[in-house]
Amino acid sequence: MVRQFLVMLPGPTNVPERVYRAMMRPIISHRGPEFRELYARIVENARYAFQTSGHVLVLTCSGTGGVDCAVGNVIKPGDKVVAPIFGVFSERMAEAARRRGADVVEVPIRWGSAPTASELEPFISEGVKAVCVVYNDTSTGVTARELPKICELAHENGALVIVDAVSILGGDELKVDRWGIDICVTGSQKCLACPPGLALISVSEEAWKAIEDNPGRPFYFDLIRAREFYEERRETPFTPAIPLFYALDEALLMLREEGLEARFERHARCARAFYSAIEALGLEAFPEPEWRSNTVIAVRTPDGLSPSELRRIMRERFGILVAGGMGKIRDEIFRIGCMGVISAREVFLTVSALAASLNELGHEADAGEALRAAGRELGSS
Ligand code: PLP
Repeated sequence: MVRQFLVMLPGPTNVPERVYRAMMRPIISHRGPEFRELYARIVENARYAFQTSGHVLVLTCSGTGGVDCAVGNVIKPGDKVVAPIFGVFSERMAEAARRRGADVVEVPIRWGSAPTASELEPFISEGVKAVCVVYNDTSTGVTARELPKICELAHENGALVIVDAVSILGGDELKVDRWGIDICVTGSQKCLACPPGLALISVSEEAWKAIEDNPGRPFYFDLIRAREFYEERRETPFTPAIPLFYALDEALLMLREEGLEARFERHARCARAFYSAIEALGLEAFPEPEWRSNTVIAVRTPDGLSPSELRRIMRERFGILVAGGMGKIRDEIFRIGCMGVISAREVFLTVSALAASLNELGHEADAGEALRAAGRELGSS
């Protein structure tokens, strides 16, 4: 029997009992009426989550599959792509475009900050096919708050905007239609509080034109085929992961019951509590204050402390999972997920365990002060 951890990772996250139970429903035919009803309801509720009236399709793959699908459907060899690089996931998105033969212009952005429209302006001109932006780079705990302005800039120059929103959609503001995001991708296992294994992808009318104009689209991840199957029969082209569709259906129903605004406010409140507690523990958040994410809390590890030791104690003694760093800042930070199932309970448990683990490793940390700091942000709700 695997131990039941409190999963405070930036994905996968804790899954509500209701969602687990939904996965126990019997297997059905993916070519029958029950599946069609299920998929139609998922798409309708996903449109609400994406804030779009356009197409949203569900793919049986993880978030990376969704990003690869987005890039692979739009980008043709030789297309010019602009990609601000400010973390591991932006590096990966640029690599996905390069693998499609794109001429990728990487714009280096200081890690711990996020791209602004004015930083990107010199690189975005007529002839750029797409701008690839990670809205929330999970590796640095940074949110690209200027995304709406970046979309505006891209559209003024005739470029599409492809957004990796894997670690933020459902946890913070993201208006696909209003901001003009052409393709937006998320994963099931982050702010939607569903198990891993599905990607969701929205596609704008402009993006459809580019996709229709690309005969080199992937075979399995051909979005035109996925759209046709959805429109004509409310089905997927190939066998979907049916238990995960049940789970996603339930997770999206829960999201709808809560309402997006309340959900965003809950994530923001818990994030403020984490940032305050971290400061009270004598630690420092990795990102610069204006870019700090509400869904991923990246913390600098204090001098002399091993992040892997800290994570080991959190896991073994307290049953709480937090993540290490990635890429070039791998050993400098650790990361806490503030996603999906996140409330005062998860914040207090994580902060208490963090304080105790720091003390055990010889780093003086005042748990009481940290909990009071978190409590002030969480209020009585
Ligand atoms: N993009 C971002 C921003 C992510 O945080 C992740 C996962 O952490 C991914 C893409 C990749 O998702 P997956 O591991 O589900 O393929």
